Formats: sequence, structure tokens, C-alpha cells
Amino acid sequence: MDDRRFVVQRHRARRLHYDFRLEVDGVLASWAVPKGPTLDPSVRRAAFHVEDHALDYGSFEGVLPAGQYGAGDVIVWDNGTWVPANGDPPGKSLFLGELHFDLYGVKLRGRFVLVRTRVDAAGKEEWLLLHKRDEHAVPGWDPEEHPLSVLSGRTNDDVRAGR
Ligand code: MN
Repeated sequence: MDDRRFVVQRHRARRLHYDFRLEVDGVLASWAVPKGPTLDPSVRRAAFHVEDHALDYGSFEGVLPAGQYGAGDVIVWDNGTWVPANGDPPGKSLFLGELHFDLYGVKLRGRFVLVRTRVDAAGKEEWLLLHKRDEHAVPGWDPEEHPLSVLSGRTNDDVRAGR
């Protein structure tokens, strides 16, 4: 089975968002999800494609200093492995704008879909992230009710306070 890493970081920058990252071709393909991923299959979450990150950034927790891009506190909100749900190489699926995949995380499990819905004149890509109806789906599931880091058990407040 070809396992790839995934990580979701809860990042309180100027605006709270969750950075959803999938290992693809040696980097972390990344989306900023303002409301965070959910197991609720009735919900579609806007996901803004952002720059790839290096694999080792996936274990970063800490405070990005004021004045720096993304200034704010970061926790590793979830992590684990993921598997593409069909035979296409994931890089090709992302290029074509639709990826179906299974997550094996601590909080997030089951079948998810990322689908590109819009590319603006500057090339910024808007996608949707959703959970399919499967045995891991949980109606009403809210990521904000699961605030602890899967790495350290800390909250964003703990990280900000240096605890
Ligand atoms: Mn971020």
C-alpha cells in the first residue's frame, strides 16, 4: 500500500484557518481551509490552494513571529497517512482538479474529495473539501470541538503562551 503523509495545522494568523496538507510527489500540497475540515458529509468547505511546503514543515508547532507572513500560532491539529481512491497519480488528479482520497488520521478518517471550482485571473485556485457519506461520516462534526494538538496535546493558546 503506498502510504503518504498528511497533516492539518490549526493556524491562528490574522484569520484563523486550518492548513490542510497532502504529501504529493515529495512536497506537501497545501490548502487553507478557513472553517476547517469536517466529517459532516452535508458540509462543503472552501479550500484555498496555497504554496507547497516542505515535508518537514508538517511537524511544525510554534509561533511565527509578528511581522512575518502568517504571523501567529500553529499546532499540528491532525496527521496520519492518506491513499488516493483511484488509480491515477495524485499529481495528475490535482492538475485535473479533482482528487478522491482516504484519510487515516487521528481525527479525520474516511473518504474525502477535493475539487477545484474556480481559478481567478491571478491564478489563485478555489477548491471545495468535503467528506463522503461512509462509515466514518459524522453529522454535525465541528473541528473547533477537537482543539488539541495530536503531537503534544496542547491548544493554540498553550503554544502561544509557551506552555
Ligand atoms: Mn497557514
